Amino acid sequence: MRICLNILLSLVAISLMLSSCKRIDDKDEKVKDSEVKSDNLIVNVSNSFNSAQKSVVQVLFDKYDRMSFSSENELYRRFFGGDSINYLHDFINKRIKYFVPIDEKELEKSFGDATKAIGAGYSLMWMYPVCNPSVGIPRVLCNGKVIKLKSSRHGVVVSGPAFFYSSTTDVERISILAHEARHADCPVEPDPYMACYLIEDPDNSTVTKENKRCGYIHAKCNDNDSARACDDLSWGSYAVSYIVLEKIHQDCLSCTEEERQVALLLSKEYDKRFLINKDKIFEGTPDLSSYDE
Ligand SMILES: [Zn+2]
Repeated sequence: MRICLNILLSLVAISLMLSSCKRIDDKDEKVKDSEVKSDNLIVNVSNSFNSAQKSVVQVLFDKYDRMSFSSENELYRRFFGGDSINYLHDFINKRIKYFVPIDEKELEKSFGDATKAIGAGYSLMWMYPVCNPSVGIPRVLCNGKVIKLKSSRHGVVVSGPAFFYSSTTDVERISILAHEARHADCPVEPDPYMACYLIEDPDNSTVTKENKRCGYIHAKCNDNDSARACDDLSWGSYAVSYIVLEKIHQDCLSCTEEERQVALLLSKEYDKRFLINKDKIFEGTPDLSSYDE
């Protein structure tokens, strides 16, 4: 089991394991309709969420639909390509298609109640056939939905309990979605040898930073050997969280002053997740492509 996570305090958790989903071999099942409607998000929200959780997601999506930005923030423009909220909508819609709850049985095996969301694992599992050509396209059953993992953009993101805690604000939840969306990018096709390492042993010395851009795999933090919860890549998932929070703090016209201050505080927390100088984190032109899209 390989783990990529951030379970500390108010941070995002991700994993390289299948978590709430299980591999299946049967035929596709009918996908249930989402009960959560949104004008701008096209994420298929699982009916397996309980009513309270659906309410949280509905409130989040409603707020996200209404969000409006002024155009002062350069980082947001550089990463997303423009100033408006529509660019963030497009970024998430392209990368997150299914939002499903984690299974209780699996929760114990992951990060417990501190888990907020899991994305990277699902973005890497599609590489199994690359790693082992005898394996067909993996399919997973996630809370009643069958999803073929035939691209890093298959778009499965799993929520953990902490996503719904009252201490987790909508500002943070939006930054979490943007963070997990970034894990769905794989700009360069890994060779089979490297694909196996990315899935099973990203700490192997043969894995370079450029290899880790497939899924934007996190690095272990300096102060905690067990947590893969920092970034040593430019324009990685924590950078995306940071950009969204800085944008909300600086440019959000529809937010309350409290929400803008929450965004500022959270951005300072994510700032601590950068293992390289911020000039390097935001260096050059970001690559938003995925070779297999
Ligand atoms: Zn992450």
